[in-house]
Order: sequence, then C-alpha cells, then structure tokens
Amino acid sequence: MMNFKKSYIYIAVLYLLVAIYIIIDNNPAVTFTLIIFLMIYHFVTFIGVKDKLSEDKQVSVQKLQYKLDETKKESEESYLHFLSLSQTLGSGVIMVNDDGKINFANKDVLEYFDFDFNNKYYEDIQISKPLYKFISKAYLLEQKYRKQIVYEDKYFDLLSTPIFEDDIFKGCLIIIHDITTLRTAENFQKRFTADVSHELKTPLSSIKGISEILNRDRNMEEKDRNEFIEILQKESVRMETILNDLLIISKMDRIDYELTVTEVHIGELVLESTNALKRLAKEKNIELITNVKDEIISVDKNKIAQVIINLIKNAINYTDEGSITVTGYTENDFYTLQVSDTGIGINSEEIENIFKRFYRIDGARSRDSGGSGLGLSIVKNVVLKHGGNIQVDSIKDEGTTFIITLPL
Ligand code: ADP
Repeated sequence: MMNFKKSYIYIAVLYLLVAIYIIIDNNPAVTFTLIIFLMIYHFVTFIGVKDKLSEDKQVSVQKLQYKLDETKKESEESYLHFLSLSQTLGSGVIMVNDDGKINFANKDVLEYFDFDFNNKYYEDIQISKPLYKFISKAYLLEQKYRKQIVYEDKYFDLLSTPIFEDDIFKGCLIIIHDITTLRTAENFQKRFTADVSHELKTPLSSIKGISEILNRDRNMEEKDRNEFIEILQKESVRMETILNDLLIISKMDRIDYELTVTEVHIGELVLESTNALKRLAKEKNIELITNVKDEIISVDKNKIAQVIINLIKNAINYTDEGSITVTGYTENDFYTLQVSDTGIGINSEEIENIFKRFYRIDGARSRDSGGSGLGLSIVKNVVLKHGGNIQVDSIKDEGTTFIITLPL
C-alpha cells in the first residue's frame, strides 16, 4: 500500500516540475517531450499499481477462502468427533433438526429399538409409541424434557435438550439411557422387602396370638400352657434366625463389602463346625462322618464356617435317617469340600431355585426345622465372593451332595 502512495507522490512531483519548467522556459518541443514521457511513466505506473491491486485482492480472497475452509474443516472435525464420541458413549443419542427430521441416531439407539432412525421424520416413527410421543413433545415444547419409557420389557430414561442458535430453535438432542438393570434391581429389592415383611409377619402373628391367649386364660392347664410357651420360644428363635441371616445378607450386598481373609487350617475349621452340630445330628439318630484333609487356605474364616454349618444343618434337617459325610480334599489348585446326605433329595428342576432368597421346596418342613429360607443364598454368595464354585448332585428320596470348590 505504501508503494502505491509513493508512486502517486512521484507522479505528482514530476507533474509539478514539468509545470514549473513550462512557466520558466516555455520551449514547446521540450515541453511536449516531457509531457509525453510523463504520460508514459504515469500510464506504466498506473498499470503496475492496478496489477498489484488485483494481485493483492486475489491473495485476500485466497486467505478468506483458506480461513473458510479451516472453519469448515474444524466444524466437520468436531461433528465427526461428536459422532465417534456418541458411538462409544454407551447411551443412545438422537439429533432432531428444526424440520423435525432425525439427522443422527447412534448405534445404541439402533440396538435399543432394532430400527434405524437416521434421516426419518419423527412423525413417521411408529416403532415405539412412547418414543414417538416423547420426541414429539420435546420437539414442540422447545424445552428441557425428561421421561422414562418402557419398550419391549426394557426401561429407558430419556432426556431432551433443545438447541438454539441466536435464540432460534434448531432442534433437540436426545440422550437415551437403558435403565433396565437398575429397574430390575429396584424391583428385586421391592420384592425382597415384601418377602421379608411376609416372613416376619408369620412368626410375629403367632407370638402375638399366643401371648394374647396366655394373657386372657390365666387358669389354663399347665400342659397346654407349656405347649404354648414352647411355640413362643420356637417362633422367636425363628425370627431371630431370619433377622441374623438378613443382617449377613445386607452386609454382603454392600458394594464396598470385603471378606476378612486370613490363612486358615480348613481341616480344623470343618471339625470345629461339625462338632457344634454333632448333638443335633445325634438327636435325629443321624451319623455325622468327617473325612477332611487339612490344608492351609486363605479364606474368610467366619464366613466359611457359616457355609459349612448351613450345609450340615440343611443335611440334618432334610434327612430322616442314615448319615451325613463331610469330605475335603485338594485337587488342581482347588480345595473341594463336599457335604453328602442320605436325605429326601431334590428334584432336578428345583435345583436352580434353591439358592434364591426365601425359596423353599417344602415350606412347612423348612419352617418346622427353624430354617430362614436364606441359608443357601448366603452359602452361594460367600463361595462366589471367594472366587469359588458351588454344585449340587441330588437324587430324589436318595440323598443330596453339595460340592464347593475354593481356589487355593
Ligand atoms: P431353609 O432355611 O429353608 O433350609 P435354605 O436356603 O437353606 O433354606 O434351603 C432352601 C431349600 O432348599 C430348603 O427349603 C429345602 O427345600 C432345600 N434344601 C436345602 N438343602 C437340602 C438338602 N440337603 N436336602 C434336600 N433339600 C434341601
């Protein structure tokens, strides 16, 4: 730009010098020659300036184009970044534009609804009525909107955020979370709470009823009175057992629950646990045999003792005659513990159910023996928390064997 200015100043100075010359010495031939030279110089400079200007203009246009390309590239890159991010997000993403057209739906949405929503108008989505209703409301409201919907036994949490550019509505971004697991856990928890209430209600009603009778009938015969007191005792012990087992379960259900692992002589632990139950077996005239190889293993001593006691107690409760054998041995980096009985056995179709909380094959028999219906669920939980495995072999009316393997 400075050069153009200089050229114009030179020309102006030259014109001035020529004018002075004409005033001082008016020689027509020289004047004519000077003017011709000056005009040629002016013309050449003018052409040069013009070329330079158009050259500069071209450079400016090129620069602008470059900047535009850069901006376009950047926005394309961020869009692609958003797309790749949305594919790895683990949640569904739907983008509806201002025409109501879905210009983007990621693979999670496709998985959830088994339908490709890309480039479809939301009005045409009939695959899921609740989803259609949600998008329609979010689109028309032009506001943040949240709702939970159900589609083919699956629960989804939907959140729509409107997109504005200079206060003009440009569509909405919808994020979809699959909350089925959360809902299932919630339902499981609800059912469990209902089961707990039911389980506690039965002994409590019986305690309440009997204490009312005892209170009302002061002249009851001693024999009847003793019978009632015995029921009172039995029912309160049952309540205590249920509450103790519930406490164990709720502790182990905590996310931050950790086993207290120490090195344990497993043979000694089995003998201690078996000795505590010898009297119970003897009362039923059942022989309790132990054949356990001692081994030092890293386990939670109290929890494994609980497993052994629960399994032997069950074996005693569900065996009317014969024997119970507890075997322990090492095999392939695992310690295997078996509790076999010659009891009532379990039907093969019932085996997968017996580890469920409060599941009993014969409710009356279980309650009569003081069972909480939680014993095996605790056993399984403890074994799995140790990285072990539990298996059941049973033949109806012949007997049952519980096989536990614990990693050494
Ligand atoms: P419970 O307190 O009722 O014994 P458990 O969770 O320990 O609860 O066991 C669940 C059910 O599995 C029992 O009610 C019983 O029907 C069955 N069961 C458990 N152990 C045995 C066994 N050794 N023989 C036959 N049935 C068994």
